[in-house]
Amino acid sequence: MSFSDIEVLRLGHRVGRDPRITTHLALVARAMGANKFTLAGDQDEKLFDNIASVNERFGHGIACRYEHSPMKMLRRIAASNDESRPVIIHLTMYGEPFKKTIPNIPKQRNALVVVGGAKVPAELFSISDYNLAVGNQPHSEVAALALFLDCWTEGAGFEREYTNPQLVISPSKSGKDVKEV
Ligand code: SAM
Repeated sequence: MSFSDIEVLRLGHRVGRDPRITTHLALVARAMGANKFTLAGDQDEKLFDNIASVNERFGHGIACRYEHSPMKMLRRIAASNDESRPVIIHLTMYGEPFKKTIPNIPKQRNALVVVGGAKVPAELFSISDYNLAVGNQPHSEVAALALFLDCWTEGAGFEREYTNPQLVISPSKSGKDVKEV
């Protein structure tokens, strides 16, 4: 199965407390079918360096960038009549059930998946095309993203291609099977 572009936008990153969870978000995005990761909130070059190092070693799969004005960007996309604009999908515990709603979202559209941090601006709920809940209990943006991507890609996210890897892992029953290429 092939699917359209998937961008993950992480709002409200705080260098003081979020580097690990935001790195995990970017790694899950990379491993499960997204091809762009956009960071908003505090700038964090170290985080980008970590993802660049994973791309370098295991193959290029995701492009990272920083966005100064994420709400301005989202407003512009939401207001666009361009049919090629991405569908804005906000993951929130207050939203509609993701498994029931995803089949109603056109899959040929590119997806911009927004995940929050501590608190997201209220306006995000109205400018998003879909507010999707992965259960209606608070948990983790990493878990929400992983479950969403698995459902959106119908399990094919893991089969995406990585370019120019230095290391390739083959599944193994016992131990590590890693080849240098
Ligand atoms: N009050 C937040 C909310 O609106 O979901 C919970 C904050 S949580 C620490 C940070 C992010 O995790 C949220 O902005 C949301 O993107 C994601 N998240 C947490 N629980 C979720 C759930 N049940 N469904 C979808 N996303 C969730």
